[in-house]
Amino acid sequence: MSGHTDMVLVNEEGIRIDGRKTDEKRNIKIEAGVLKNADGSCYLEIGKNKVLCAVYGPRECRMRHLQDPTKAIITVKYNMETYSVSDRKRPGTDRRSVEISKLISEALSAVVMTELYPRTTIDVYIEILQANAGTRCAGLTAASVALADAGIPMRDIVPAIACGKADGKVLLDLNKEEDNFGQADVPIAIVPSTDEIVLLQMDGNMTREELEYGLDMAFKAAHEVADLQKDALLRKYTNKKKEASE
Ligand code: UDP
Repeated sequence: MSGHTDMVLVNEEGIRIDGRKTDEKRNIKIEAGVLKNADGSCYLEIGKNKVLCAVYGPRECRMRHLQDPTKAIITVKYNMETYSVSDRKRPGTDRRSVEISKLISEALSAVVMTELYPRTTIDVYIEILQANAGTRCAGLTAASVALADAGIPMRDIVPAIACGKADGKVLLDLNKEEDNFGQADVPIAIVPSTDEIVLLQMDGNMTREELEYGLDMAFKAAHEVADLQKDALLRKYTNKKKEASE
């Protein structure tokens, strides 16, 4: 966000370095139920980001001081693998991963019917295998598919995507260069059935008008992401039924 580059991020025709238009998201691939031994799982790609998510639970929360007698707690572990970025990342938890885990947990808590499972924990593991900006959105999008795949009752799915600004243009779904050298990055996650916002952050600067324009693009794209999430779950369910009848 604070870096400078001579690179043209958006050309005069409004085309970005990866060939996208300003309001175009990266290609998305979502697969539900990819891990045999987890209760629920999801593999997701968006552009060059690759994310794997596994869910366990609800199961008894062994750390009693964390137990909530009224509802389940959602414990998220967002982890960026050492080999996921071009400069080797130091393994293990850092401030960034703690912050991202917390905000993903809060976003998921808005839709999961935690009140059905008092004193339990639902554990969500998010592994970033390859990163190219937008990993918190990719991780959250994958996590809500994995939770649904685990059969955990939810009010809705949670799609997440960012809008932002680079080269003075408002853009959808920033890639690494746009994130690094642009002027603003605004990740957002919504509940599609109500258009409620469950995650909204802003890094950088934008005018109110630009932000409103960016949010319009992000809402529209988030609804499209939700359709892809539901498709992935439907495909998994249909395949399972097919396997059972064979
Ligand atoms: N990044 C990196 N090393 C780090 C953290 C981030 O190379 O230790 C890169 C990575 O590609 C990431 C991008 O910077 O996707 C943007 O990071 P940010 O903290 O904005 O989170 P994200 O956009 O991934 O949610």
